[in-house]
Amino acid sequence: MKREDLPLNTDLSGKVAVVTGGGGVLCSEMSRALAAAGAKVAILDLKKESAQVVADEIVAEGYVAKGYACNVLDKEALKAVHEEIVKDFGKVQILINGAGGNSPKATTTEEYFGECKDIADKITFFDLKQEGVEFVFNLNFLGTLLPTQEFAQDMIGATDCNILNISSMNAFTPLTKIPAYSGAKAAVSNFTQWLAVHFSREDIRVNAIAPGFFSTKQNAALLFNPDGTPTARTGKILAATPMRRFGQMNELIGSVLFLLNKKAAGFITGVVLPIDGGFSAYSGV
Ligand code: NAD
Repeated sequence: MKREDLPLNTDLSGKVAVVTGGGGVLCSEMSRALAAAGAKVAILDLKKESAQVVADEIVAEGYVAKGYACNVLDKEALKAVHEEIVKDFGKVQILINGAGGNSPKATTTEEYFGECKDIADKITFFDLKQEGVEFVFNLNFLGTLLPTQEFAQDMIGATDCNILNISSMNAFTPLTKIPAYSGAKAAVSNFTQWLAVHFSREDIRVNAIAPGFFSTKQNAALLFNPDGTPTARTGKILAATPMRRFGQMNELIGSVLFLLNKKAAGFITGVVLPIDGGFSAYSGV
């Protein structure tokens, strides 16, 4: 991504940004955008190779980034990688808490109980595994809180700092099948508000984005048949999205750059911004 391709001209020159889960679909795009806006970007991921691929792409475009292996649930690893980042780039002013996700062990097979109760190999509410629920809560909630405890230390006493969390549509109203992911993202939204208040006098703004449905390479098979026609799931999603379309990646990037831009959003903290084509506003009637 080049600077001229950015949807907003937010200037992040001189800033150091940490993006957790930066090897993934959404946060690799955010990393590219932050780098194109001038930030030095530390891309953290459980999978070092994914982080490095993104960092290499960014460097090839002429911007500054480096990939780091780091589990956001490991306090010692966070501390060690933090020390490395400070040596490589300096103290951190921007943190995007992007690592997150769901688990099949915390997902029911069907939407309604009656659809699966008599079928042996289906996962009903009663079959959800404690370890699956704990995995999802830890990854999304603790995986946001622990990196914040580590990297926000650099922000105390500094100016114009930002923490951006990634919530989800299911934080407002749970999506079917995924009770743990929905609850964990609701906790991320709640924590965003809590932390915004806690840091409100430190020049640290804390916000979240709540992406709706974006069509990416990763979910293409779920959303479109091999012949390009939409799947039944796509039909349901679009019927619940008043704009009747999926989001485009740069529509996430514009919101990220807006929230990080003090000139534009300097009085905004503690918001969870839906980027959803109206999904969260629509009752279906
Ligand atoms: P993704 O799976 O492509 O990216 C997540 C990245 O996090 C992966 O690269 C993974 O290796 C990394 N990761 C997983 N566990 C980790 C850990 N313990 N420590 C460090 N890194 C770890 O997912 P995505 O779709 O790009 O999602 C990014 C964020 O956006 C997540 O928080 C997700 O919950 C949220 N989100 C996604 C959507 C969507 O439609 N894709 C919608 C709403 C919210």
